[in-house]
Amino acid sequence: MGVGPERVSLNTATVREQWSLRECIEGCARHGIKGISPWRDKLQECGVDEAARLIEAHGLTVTGLCRGGGFPAAGAAGRQAALDDNRRAVDEAVAIGARCLVLVAGGLPEGSKDIAGAREQVRDGIAATLEYARSCGLPLAIEPLHPMYAADRACVNTLRHANDLCDELGAGLGIAVDVYHVWWDPDLEQEIKRAGKERLLAFHLCDWLVPTKDLLLDRGMMGDGVIDIAKIRAWVEAAGYAGFCEVEIFSAENWWRKDADDVVETVIQRCRSAV
Ligand code: ZN
Repeated sequence: MGVGPERVSLNTATVREQWSLRECIEGCARHGIKGISPWRDKLQECGVDEAARLIEAHGLTVTGLCRGGGFPAAGAAGRQAALDDNRRAVDEAVAIGARCLVLVAGGLPEGSKDIAGAREQVRDGIAATLEYARSCGLPLAIEPLHPMYAADRACVNTLRHANDLCDELGAGLGIAVDVYHVWWDPDLEQEIKRAGKERLLAFHLCDWLVPTKDLLLDRGMMGDGVIDIAKIRAWVEAAGYAGFCEVEIFSAENWWRKDADDVVETVIQRCRSAV
């Protein structure tokens, strides 16, 4: 059981309040972590070229860039702005050698109650972005989010929906499985199997705390909650996933307040004991 730091990726959200991207890169190197997954705000703050240079110099694998998506909008101009931004995200992901660009679909446009329509806009937005991403050789990874985010962040909420989009839109599109968002799903094992090696592009870890005090910013360290992470990891690996375990913990009241080196040490310990 467990994975060593050579198979761990640090998602920069985990130490978002403490470290810049440069500090994350140097921190990974210091602790023996071999993967990194930057968010775009950190990447842009560092500068894409400088980030690419630092990542290369420290021999890190970029397990994904977070994130593209956000497709639905009330009008044509808003939808076009989203497509333009996704194109830039693809370019950034290519520039830093990311294995994929993670897509968080987007929710309902302001004032709308039409979730089916929002989902159609997501499909069309992914299709348009996919065409460009394919020409760049960059895979796109849809990350289904927990249904509590359907209105404001992502109206793709299950692995089944993500698999259906992959079936419909074809090559170059895959899935990021984040245990926080999908652990509750009775069809999880089956849909992981259905996704298979080709589509499983990223595996995100944290834990579901009971009680969860904030819908966005109270995620737990692996082992502190109720998700059987080892079981889900066994399922993704049985399906052919051989990539990194990416640790992504949004924790405003706890982990974001601690010394980042201590957080990273805890991540490494828990990846051995609870993953
Ligand atoms: Zn995630």
